[in-house]
Amino acid sequence: MREGRIRYKLLLTLAIALSLGFASIGYFYTMAVEKSIMSEYQRTLHRLTDSVAMNVETIMKERHAEIMPDFARRLKALPGVLDFRIARVDGTEAFIDNETIDAVNKKLGESTFDRRTTDVVAPKVFAMNDPGLDRAVKGEEGILVRNTEDPALRDIVSFYDPILNSEKCVRCHAAGPVRAVMKLTTSIVEVERDMMKARLQSLIVVVVSLALTMAVTGYMLGRFIAKPIEEISAAMAHVIDGKFDTQVAASRQDELGKMARSFNKMTTDLVQNFQKMKNEKEKLHSVIQGAQEAIVVTDDVGKVVLVNDATERLLGKSVEQIQEGGILNLLDQPERFQAMLDDTHAVSEPSLFEYKGHWLLTSAHTIRDATGSPIGSAALLRDVTLEQAMLKELERLSITDALTDVFNRRHLDVTLRTELKRARDVGLPLAVIMFDADHFKKFNDTYGHDQGDRVLKMVGQVMKETVRMYDVPCRYGGEEFAVILPSTEADGAMHFAERLRKNIEVMRVDDLKVTISLGVACFPMIAAELPEALIEAADAALYVSKESGRNCSTMATPAMLVKT
Ligand code: GH3
Ligand code: MG
Ligand code: MG
Repeated sequence: MREGRIRYKLLLTLAIALSLGFASIGYFYTMAVEKSIMSEYQRTLHRLTDSVAMNVETIMKERHAEIMPDFARRLKALPGVLDFRIARVDGTEAFIDNETIDAVNKKLGESTFDRRTTDVVAPKVFAMNDPGLDRAVKGEEGILVRNTEDPALRDIVSFYDPILNSEKCVRCHAAGPVRAVMKLTTSIVEVERDMMKARLQSLIVVVVSLALTMAVTGYMLGRFIAKPIEEISAAMAHVIDGKFDTQVAASRQDELGKMARSFNKMTTDLVQNFQKMKNEKEKLHSVIQGAQEAIVVTDDVGKVVLVNDATERLLGKSVEQIQEGGILNLLDQPERFQAMLDDTHAVSEPSLFEYKGHWLLTSAHTIRDATGSPIGSAALLRDVTLEQAMLKELERLSITDALTDVFNRRHLDVTLRTELKRARDVGLPLAVIMFDADHFKKFNDTYGHDQGDRVLKMVGQVMKETVRMYDVPCRYGGEEFAVILPSTEADGAMHFAERLRKNIEVMRVDDLKVTISLGVACFPMIAAELPEALIEAADAALYVSKESGRNCSTMATPAMLVKT
């Protein structure tokens, strides 16, 4: 039914238009036929009255007026004639009384015509207000008047025709345009029957023509317009149902054919584009699935719609568990995830999450459409455990001396600056110890440089074993070392220096030993503003230890600084 609508509408429109057209044609045709039947009828009556008028004239001219009453009587007996009267212009019937005979005899001055023996009064043929009489007396010919007042006499008509005065008439009769009026009364039933027949015939012609025109035009409209439109409409419904490769017949060379070709091109393009998109999707899918990074995507209501293989591997969870937990619970830290999803910055920094012993560099964001409305969210997680370890190692290496494995000079500088600032800000003590291997040049010369290196390495080892947790053992350069002792007073620092000295003294490398000389500088005893000042003081004390015979420790005093 739905697909047939246009067909029915076209047919309905056609039916209305054709019916109106044919009804109008039928109406006017019937009217014309009726008019023509009526005119023909009127002409027939006129011919009859004309012939009667001629006969009357002939009879009168031959001066045989005496036969007129009989002639008039015979006229009434004509077939189809109900009544036929010849009346004078005053409406009285002629050929009945002696009025005209007397008038003629008087005019001619002699008794030419015999009077009737019975002197009757001629009856009025016309009523006083007879509509036909007035018109006929004025000379109008062939007047047909239908009796419309009395329903019983509806089929009766009266036909009036004047007998005109000729030159010969006025010899005997009075002058005037009209001599007499004929009134013929007859039944119109036959004429009406002919008209009815004509009406019926035109009705049949109209109905048959209408039916034929409807059938032919309807068929053509259906075949050339409705059918192609229905085909395209049905094909469109197929496309909507997902059958994108639907095609329609497109051989016609009109607008509908053009429409069909456009439709076919559209579906062909649609199939090609759909295939391209499918290929792209597959590519994307394999990229996503093949990625080392975990990728999770949700729809606009937060339902997880994509989980790649790496996610299961990285999180040690099944797809079902991930779908159940949602994107917020991927790493069991929903608040941090929510904060990332709420972040409206175009590019947000990924965050590091520690999860089941792994470091996961994670970014999550809300996906929005062109109008800014959220249409989903996505999370990308990369296992950076190894990178993190390498970074830590790199950091460690960057502040570690390669030979001795204690902190290097750079770290000493940075740490001492920080610790001195803290000591000054908080009001805590701080100690720095500088020490130097005794006669090391000679040692190298005696046992070789490599042996010297092994000794330095062992010095570093002993340093590390001797310091407390917060102390910072460093190689200052060459065979010189330094230790930062936070929150350490002069006594404690001196005590530590001695312990270190002794530990080195007892140390043996391939049965070889070294001693060290130490200088201790303590803040705030040395009121250093810069770390270099503290180092300088410790170095000065170290110099004093060397001067004092080596293998000993010296506390730096402000006086020593002044001296150097
Ligand atoms: P002093 O008791 O006065 O300190 O005498 P010293 O010989 O140690 O004097 P000096 O400081 O002038 O000599 C340092 C020597 O340390 C010179 C150098 O050969 C040696 N040295 C410096 N760095 C290294 C190193 O990395 N490895 C080795 N094996 N020797 C080093
Ligand atoms: Mg030295
Ligand atoms: Mg030395």
